[in-house]
Amino acid sequence: ARNVVVVGAGMAGVQTAVALREAGFTGPVTLIGAEPHQPYDRPPLSKAVLLGAAEDSAFDIDFEALDITLRLGLDVTALRADGHLLETAEGPVPYDVLVLATGAEPITLPGTEGVRGVHLLRTLDDAARLRPVLERRHDVVVVGAGWIGAEFATAARAAGCAVTVVEAAARPLAGTLPAEVAAPMADWYAESGAELLTDARVDRVEEGTVVLDDGRTLPAGAVVVGIGARPATGWLTGSGIERGPDGSITADASLRTSLPDVYAVGDCASFPSARYGERLLIHHWDNALQGPRTVAAAILAAESGDPLPVHDPVPYFWSEQFGRFVQYAGHHAHADTLVWRGDGAGAAWSVCWLKAGALVAVLAVGRPRDLAQGRRLIESGAVLDPERVADPAVPLKST
Ligand code: FAD
Repeated sequence: ARNVVVVGAGMAGVQTAVALREAGFTGPVTLIGAEPHQPYDRPPLSKAVLLGAAEDSAFDIDFEALDITLRLGLDVTALRADGHLLETAEGPVPYDVLVLATGAEPITLPGTEGVRGVHLLRTLDDAARLRPVLERRHDVVVVGAGWIGAEFATAARAAGCAVTVVEAAARPLAGTLPAEVAAPMADWYAESGAELLTDARVDRVEEGTVVLDDGRTLPAGAVVVGIGARPATGWLTGSGIERGPDGSITADASLRTSLPDVYAVGDCASFPSARYGERLLIHHWDNALQGPRTVAAAILAAESGDPLPVHDPVPYFWSEQFGRFVQYAGHHAHADTLVWRGDGAGAAWSVCWLKAGALVAVLAVGRPRDLAQGRRLIESGAVLDPERVADPAVPLKST
């Protein structure tokens, strides 16, 4: 059997190796990861691991029993597709089949790289550096009111830190949710005792102080930057692989790349969604769980001649922030109607997006049943009655 090499030992890489075994692949499987730690799950890093409620979040997987060779602490520096070779600090690694699962890296705030007390939150090492910040209850300034910023602010408030969140847009999650849906979320910050400064920009960070471009200064024992992430694909420059303007490896519907025998999955890869009629780059956990099943099936199909599998999920993610469980399924970019289920000022509410009467996306705050039922309705393309959808007492599946 051919030898499969997976680059990146995060969720997508680990799940690809496991899915290959589950699908009956018997050839050699090597999983290479730059981080020195046993492969681990990222969502707990901004939750239990940060608060010290869990030491780490290593995957509970017996790689040895699955005959998966782990090469950790090894950075892959280049891909030579014509020779079917990877370059690493420990010499070349040949592959027959290659899976790229290098994930994403956080965007840094220009001018703050290497400044003491400025943190990112992507890795276990980042979380380990931030734990003492919470333990010592430093004043923290969070830059960016996105998912990571909100979760870090939640943990920092729970630890008793004074928290100021600086957001360049007029509201939290501005790039993700429409204004009327994000509006109630702004109040969650104040309610938790964090101060949210919108339309505010960081000019510079000096030791212990964040200076905004309007001259305001904020005391900062630590600064946490959560302004987004981009695919970790810089190392592929010169490989000839096709990438999009967002830096993602442009995979096809079966997660094959433009290079022969090379697949891409997880946060580093975009794929064409027939469901939504556009190319999607998804930076969420569930995509890094579903995609690997397609990659494993596609690798086996290339050998057996079986039909190729297709990756076209209804996207799903969750966030835990300010004592709330926030979940989202679908993709609302092309929706024509937005329906509220409940009061955005209340403890539990949902928003449904419809397109030509069919449910295309749902955001649920403290209403997991709406999410579960909505996800199935989105998958089946069911047409709903907006008036019944608007009644939170009516189960979504009965609308
Ligand atoms: P990654 O997890 O980034 O793994 C990629 C791995 O590849 C990394 O370990 C990296 O070191 C390695 N690598 C990169 N380049 C190379 C190279 N050249 N050579 C060798 N190795 C390399 N999603 C949700 O849906 N809900 C949540 O609540 C949630 N919480 C999150 C909280 C945090 C703090 C973070 C950071 C993310 C969270 N996410 C959440 C997103 C989710 O964790 C990611 O979508 C998921 O981890 C993507 O998996 P991946 O394997 O594609 O990439």
